[in-house]
Amino acid sequence: MSELNLILLGPPGAGKGTQAARLREDFGLPYIGTGDLLREHRQNQTELGVEAQKYMDNGDLVPDDLVIAMILSKVEDEGDDGFLLDGFPRTVPQADALARELDGMGRRLTAALLIEASDDVVIARLSGRRVCSAGHVYHVVDDPPKHEGVCDQDGKPLTRRKDDEPDTIKKRLSTYHAMTEPLKDYYDERGLLRRFDGTRDETEVHDHIRATLATLRLEERL
Ligand SMILES: [Zn+2]
Repeated sequence: MSELNLILLGPPGAGKGTQAARLREDFGLPYIGTGDLLREHRQNQTELGVEAQKYMDNGDLVPDDLVIAMILSKVEDEGDDGFLLDGFPRTVPQADALARELDGMGRRLTAALLIEASDDVVIARLSGRRVCSAGHVYHVVDDPPKHEGVCDQDGKPLTRRKDDEPDTIKKRLSTYHAMTEPLKDYYDERGLLRRFDGTRDETEVHDHIRATLATLRLEERL
């Protein structure tokens, strides 16, 4: 079997998390979310985790080479058939560094999967989300509770998370665009970018991704 070494790109609210979960099931690929990875290393007090902690204690960003070292060790441990990388790279220099290190392992990316949704769609999706304190999630339009503002399951009041306030979403989107637009071009120029319409039904998006990956694997074997 050929490897599927994949990067996930896309704005918040485009359904990246959902698609990642389904791809993990389909292909048994390890999901490498850089936020989780960093947390894991710090909790387990690994050498890399202790090193990262020093930077964080000083209020500094964890340097790219440390993050890449964490990614590579996960790829070595669990990624024989490939991996799903989410949250890294975020910049072109990071993408270059990752490509170089993978090359050093005799591997290369299969594709960068971009799940797209317009800002308007993202804002409507996220700002309509309501949660109760037990974590049950609703949407005022797509999945409303039976009684407005009250959780169906436990009667607790529903609120909007700070992250889902329109102003917060707009800020997250502008950060996303500033960082990711150059990456789209980067992967497009290298023939690695594959685009998916995140405004479609999640099963449709999933089927489209599966079909694309099947084609990529066939091409690899030729
Ligand atoms: Zn609830």
